[in-house]
Amino acid sequence: MTGPEPTANAAADRQTHGFQAEVRELLKLMIHSLYSHREIFLRELISNASDANDRLRFAAIEAPALLESDAELAIRVEADPAAGTVTILDNGIGMTREEAVANLGTIARSGTAEFFRSLSGERQKDAQLIGQFGVGFYSAFIVADRVEVLSRKAGVPAAGGVHWESRADGEFTVQSVTREERGTAIRLHLKAEAKEFADPFRLRALIRKYSDHIAFPVRMRKEGEASLEYETVNQAKALWVRPRAEIPEEEYRQFYQHLAHDFTEPLAWSHNRVEGKREYTSLLYIPGRAPFDLWQREAAHGLKLYVKRVFIMDDAEQFLPQYLRFVKGVVDSSDLPLNVSRELLQKEPEVEAIRGSLTKRVLDMLARLAKDELDKYATFWKEFGTVLKEGVGQDVANRTALLPLLRFASTHEAGDEPGVSLAHYVERMKPGQDRIYYIIAESIAAARRSPYIERLTERGLEVLLLSERIDEWVMGQLEDFEGKRFKDAARGDLELGPLESEAERKQREEALKESKGLLKKVKDAIGEDVLEVRLSTRLKESPACLVLDEHDLSAGMRRILAAAGQKVPDSKPALELNVGHPLVKYLEGLGDAARFKELALLLHEQAQLAEGGQLGNPVQFVQRLNRLLVSLTEDHTE
Ligand code: ADP
Ligand code: MG
Repeated sequence: MTGPEPTANAAADRQTHGFQAEVRELLKLMIHSLYSHREIFLRELISNASDANDRLRFAAIEAPALLESDAELAIRVEADPAAGTVTILDNGIGMTREEAVANLGTIARSGTAEFFRSLSGERQKDAQLIGQFGVGFYSAFIVADRVEVLSRKAGVPAAGGVHWESRADGEFTVQSVTREERGTAIRLHLKAEAKEFADPFRLRALIRKYSDHIAFPVRMRKEGEASLEYETVNQAKALWVRPRAEIPEEEYRQFYQHLAHDFTEPLAWSHNRVEGKREYTSLLYIPGRAPFDLWQREAAHGLKLYVKRVFIMDDAEQFLPQYLRFVKGVVDSSDLPLNVSRELLQKEPEVEAIRGSLTKRVLDMLARLAKDELDKYATFWKEFGTVLKEGVGQDVANRTALLPLLRFASTHEAGDEPGVSLAHYVERMKPGQDRIYYIIAESIAAARRSPYIERLTERGLEVLLLSERIDEWVMGQLEDFEGKRFKDAARGDLELGPLESEAERKQREEALKESKGLLKKVKDAIGEDVLEVRLSTRLKESPACLVLDEHDLSAGMRRILAAAGQKVPDSKPALELNVGHPLVKYLEGLGDAARFKELALLLHEQAQLAEGGQLGNPVQFVQRLNRLLVSLTEDHTE
């Protein structure tokens, strides 16, 4: 490998391209907002060099000729303080002219567009954000006002080289060149105020700090004028291969940043070597922040797969279940064949077994975090709790490990942040309480004010408050936690069980006897829209509510299905009346049959509205309400 000294081909056509608009924006923003972190350019470029070497080593499994006579893959950093340049070279896969045009300027990587969507005006926050999207190659322009790339793709003759150059002014040029050396050299012409990066001492320190874990040797010239000898500056050993005890925390963090393109700190990691019948090493991280594409169906996720230290593929998703897709990491197997493909991974029993163990490791790591590092666990739950919940339905085998990891908002907590565990709930259950009560509504605030839990909260019983779309499905899967059954406060009989005193029970039965006539009259007035009309054990402030049976689809679920054009099975709710409410009392004593019907229908309609539903005939409701209001004014004028 030598530096970029391009020899233009005689017939070389020099072309100028405009950067894609988004790339141009990204460049501008990056140069401004990342100025205080400008040394990151070096790790980004070394990381790309390492990727390029990895890719060649992988390609060479099938086609060893690609390695030519240059089989020892390495990275070199050349500094020229006098010229104010620094050059990063690799002998990896390289790029063709077309690839250079596409990868370095015209195709915005998938993250770029998303990045701009998530931008805020505040510089500080932008700088944070930009790290999340992995700025990569373009970070060169934070320190350089001119960048040259010289590359030749492995397997392509010397005449197929390419020279790419840009001054970050919205354009770049490409030219075909002859280049003997395989791989890529990136030369940065440093800005006046960034000349410090041409200092070999500074570069050595940065390589040790940020690129120590890179699995290829990163070499620099030995100290001394015009030395021709090179020395390796980094450890040059894959981090996960080294014994745990020898790796400082800082190196684990740096490796995470390299792996995840995320400059924030991971919350936890777990590094393990398994030996014996099956041999593999894994290094798994829990990120501190959700990636922007966590909810995109097509988004790539999964671990980086190596076989006997050889990089095989990114995003090997077969090694962890879908609900742990936020985990970043590496798995290095000694048993899989080097030519393993994605299709093969799906069938390989070996993979299935590793997946089982890795799942346990992640759940263990989360349990440890939940126990010992409450702040970190709170962060985890905020970022990934909703994803983890999917596991309750997807991974029945690990349910016992998953349940203690769930966190809920609750009537017993002031804030709306989910912080209560099931164990915590069970611990503070009232004597005689044998159910874990919960309520699902459109928001935590709506759940907290829900009429369905009025009696429960009056008794000081804790109710878990849920409001996410997935909750209905998740809670539907759960039977019990440590023998305590779950109970949706909005469904069926409220089942106070032993909590109801003998006196209360008697009183309830009394009331039932007394109001039999009323209940029947209300049912007759409303007709077939409700299954039955009964006395409520839930309500205190509200006059009426609609209650589903245990296994009926919820109103919310029915709305979702109906909106998706699905046929919604027929199930009718019961209307529950609060006989303690003045309005219901008034109804009881009302002789006028027409007015009774109006009021009964109004009660039904407001109960529908209160559960977030839509009325079948809103105009009728408004007319009814207005008739009632007008009758009030008549009462007054008389
Ligand atoms: P990322 O590394 O996340 O893909 P970068 O912005 O760092 O994004 O690089 C963009 C693309 O440019 C890479 O995906 C790769 O295709 C190409 N590239 C960059 N550096 C090199 C290199 N040293 N050798 C070969 N290809 C490279
Ligand atoms: Mg990169």
